[in-house]
Amino acid sequence: MNKPVILIVEDDTPVRNLISTTLKTHEYKYLTAPTGRDAIMLASSHNPDVVFLDLGLPDMDGVEVIRQIRTWSNMPIIVISARSEDDDKISALDAGADDYLTKPFSVEELLARLRVTIRRLSMMNSSAGTDTSVYTNGPLKIDHPAGCAFLYEEELKLTPIEFKLLCLLARNTGKVLTHTYITQSIWGRSWDNDIASLRVFMVTLRKKLEPDPESPKFIQTHVGIGYRMLKVE
Ligand code: CA
Repeated sequence: MNKPVILIVEDDTPVRNLISTTLKTHEYKYLTAPTGRDAIMLASSHNPDVVFLDLGLPDMDGVEVIRQIRTWSNMPIIVISARSEDDDKISALDAGADDYLTKPFSVEELLARLRVTIRRLSMMNSSAGTDTSVYTNGPLKIDHPAGCAFLYEEELKLTPIEFKLLCLLARNTGKVLTHTYITQSIWGRSWDNDIASLRVFMVTLRKKLEPDPESPKFIQTHVGIGYRMLKVE
């Protein structure tokens, strides 16, 4: 992958300048948008590789920007939120954001998050077309080349993170995966926040996957440790 293009969505000029200067210094290409409307327009016309998205925009909620982009693209979206917007951060992840940065953030943190995202993206690109496998486990089917999952032949409406989570557990069917292992695999790090987010994603994933989320038959919880995908007959 050469010279990824980053879309910076931020209405606060000093923050936008900080991000664009940092990207420029590190030889990334970038586009900037001060509003949600501009963001959606640039995302569709320029198809950037990664989006940095501030949640508090003047014309619309950043979460709405994610929802709109997700109707046609899986481009990685890294949300930028203030610490007071923790609930918004969870809604953003729920709407399909891939990762988040909390204000105030350091330049190093921004670059680290970007590198992880780009690495994941190029891994996805290089394995796309090679993973032709279809996973089945009882009524659950994951079609890797199509990037979707089915339960009793009905497509599950999963967010990108829920899908990644499901694939990770499925790849390791029968094995207990720790919270740390899972968050490392999905977000490239394992902070307390990530483990809290993982619980939230597990609840939403189970609601979609399990016929009875109260007594799950696919994903088993190991309290204080992690989760395991069980083989279903
Ligand atoms: Ca803002």
